[in-house]
Amino acid sequence: MIEIAYKITLHEPLCVGTGRGIPWLVDSTTCRDHENMPIIPGSTIKGRLRAASRALAARMGWVMCARGCPNTAAAPCHLCAAFGSAAFPCGLRFSPARAASLYYEMKKLADREGWPLPDRLVSTRTGIRKAKTRGVVAHGALFNTECVDPRVELNGTITGEIFGLEHRPAHEVVRPLVLVLGGLQLIRYIGGDKARGFGACDVIVTHAAVEGASLRMEDVLASLEGP
Ligand SMILES: [Zn+2]
Repeated sequence: MIEIAYKITLHEPLCVGTGRGIPWLVDSTTCRDHENMPIIPGSTIKGRLRAASRALAARMGWVMCARGCPNTAAAPCHLCAAFGSAAFPCGLRFSPARAASLYYEMKKLADREGWPLPDRLVSTRTGIRKAKTRGVVAHGALFNTECVDPRVELNGTITGEIFGLEHRPAHEVVRPLVLVLGGLQLIRYIGGDKARGFGACDVIVTHAAVEGASLRMEDVLASLEGP
């Protein structure tokens, strides 16, 4: 099994919109889990990572399909081996990226004791919406976006298998895994409204292991050399 843990450091407020608002208060809310804590959904991480990994594969000159390998392919390309396509299932699970567990413990304690605990993880930004066609301020133009405070660090995991590589020895670093690990560290923003100054970030891999054996980033980088 492949186990990867990573940490996201935000440089700007993060806005992963739910597409829903709170009447009279917030026009767009940020994603939260069932404990009402802000998260980045695994599907959002996977989408951003896939794009970063594709860019890395192109940079390395590795051959990839254009729109997902079809079932007529004997084996998936490196990208589809990691992320799946309609014909090849994705064997990796992308957890939501969450705030540190200490925040959860603080919230539980505050809830239990009835202490007021201000929501320091999320803040609301006010913006002005311009009418697209005329470049002037639209009717009802002020809007509020709920976003994750840039001081919050978020942690996520990726676990599971890469297609066709389940039984490789631990020391053998394979290209789909290189795309996942390298792609993570190439992510520079997450979420919506990049142009308005939301979501710039860095991602650092804090742990990577194959079948329980830790993977050294030097070995990953060394495997990028050669054809
Ligand atoms: Zn493919």
